[in-house]
Amino acid sequence: MNPPRNSTAARDVASVLHPYTELKSHLTKGPVVIARGEGVRVWDDQGKDYIESVAGLWCAALGFSNERLVEAATAQMRRLPFYHAFTAKSYEPLIDLSEMLLERAPPSVDGAPMSKVFFANSGSEANDSAVKMVWYYNNAVGRPRKKKIIARLKGYHGVTVAAASLTGLPNNHRLFDLPIAGVLHTMTPHHYHGAEPGESEEDFATRCAEELEALILREDPETVAAMFAEPIMGAGGVILPPATYFEKIQAVLRKYDVLLVADEVICGFGRTGNYWGSQTYGIQPDILTCAKALSASFLPISAVMVNDRVFQGLAEGSSQVGTFGHGFTYSGHPVSAAVAIETLRIYDEMNLVEHAATVGAHMQAGLRERFAEHPLVGEVRGTGLIAGVELVEDKAARRNFDPARKLGARLMALGEQNGVILRAMPGDSIGFSPPLVITEAEVDEMLDRFGRALDALAVEIRREGIA
Ligand code: PMP
Repeated sequence: MNPPRNSTAARDVASVLHPYTELKSHLTKGPVVIARGEGVRVWDDQGKDYIESVAGLWCAALGFSNERLVEAATAQMRRLPFYHAFTAKSYEPLIDLSEMLLERAPPSVDGAPMSKVFFANSGSEANDSAVKMVWYYNNAVGRPRKKKIIARLKGYHGVTVAAASLTGLPNNHRLFDLPIAGVLHTMTPHHYHGAEPGESEEDFATRCAEELEALILREDPETVAAMFAEPIMGAGGVILPPATYFEKIQAVLRKYDVLLVADEVICGFGRTGNYWGSQTYGIQPDILTCAKALSASFLPISAVMVNDRVFQGLAEGSSQVGTFGHGFTYSGHPVSAAVAIETLRIYDEMNLVEHAATVGAHMQAGLRERFAEHPLVGEVRGTGLIAGVELVEDKAARRNFDPARKLGARLMALGEQNGVILRAMPGDSIGFSPPLVITEAEVDEMLDRFGRALDALAVEIRREGIA
């Protein structure tokens, strides 16, 4: 283990409680201190550059520098640095951003447009807000028993109490006394691991839908309110739905009048090669949550879009009790909203969807050509500018390495040595979700650096006699 390299590192160890970090070993290993960023790269405090293969946390969609966003923020800070939307107050950036999101939203159920937008600060807050809206809605329309929420094993919806309960990953539940009551998890739609030998994607999707229906019937449909789903499951390992999955899932949900919440926190704004992941997979959500790329992550902001049926229910409820008693001090913060507006304009000008589809196709082809046959790689998967490369010990049996060997973490460290910041997820899946502005040449460089790290890992493993 390396001791902290310099005084910045030592001060970090002495003072910072890091999210998503092994806290005890951090005391001896210390941090990587990132000092600045430009384009798709960041530099550490020693001057070493790294390509950011996950855009930070799947979020820095315009990379790590953009003067127009700096201008948008400072201009709004000068004009009106803070106001709020409580008690019917409003301001132009709030209205403009709501209109822009509704204009760009995917169609809701039966092709109806989304109706209204609520703002929060993070993906977790957006999803917690959506949970509360579902509960409020069902109370307002006289269905007080219809409250349970279904999510999926390996889904990721955030870390606040309700959102962490929806998240289907053990580390977000263990030791936290989660999930809360009334949150249920259905199976992960990962064909590579979940399918029976010879089972087609379509047949596997049918089985996923049957399991969902069995769960709803077991719980009693009168008690099941909503299902949350990411179009592509991100932090759970970049898991793409099998062909026909959402068509079949939505048929079940409609049969039992269960609302569908699309969590577009990663997939929204071009990531999958369409504006929304919902468009890539034919999802017609009742509620949509988004964050991250909404402001290119220059400032925190998230949004919840609701269709008119849900909005009418919320309006009815608020007239029963006197107010819609939910909202954050910084719901639709004007500076964040101004940055988000400018971000969406930049996306339009750069033909975001076309760019993500073209450069995405280049990244997908490069990953498959270079790594699908690599001795450590079991599956390369993805679409647009999101991909996963899963490491396995036994390709034929599709068996992962023992998690105790921490292959993913070791590959991340080797990536850093080779100038690429990688993100390892459960099951030793490496996620790729670079800034959407990445060029084909930068993709090639990112894959070169990743390839060097992967080959170095293969050499280490051979030496250890593990594989
Ligand atoms: N939903 C999804 C799909 C996410 O990927 C994330 C964050 N990675 C969240 C919700 C939570 O967002 P935040 O970290 O901003 O709370």
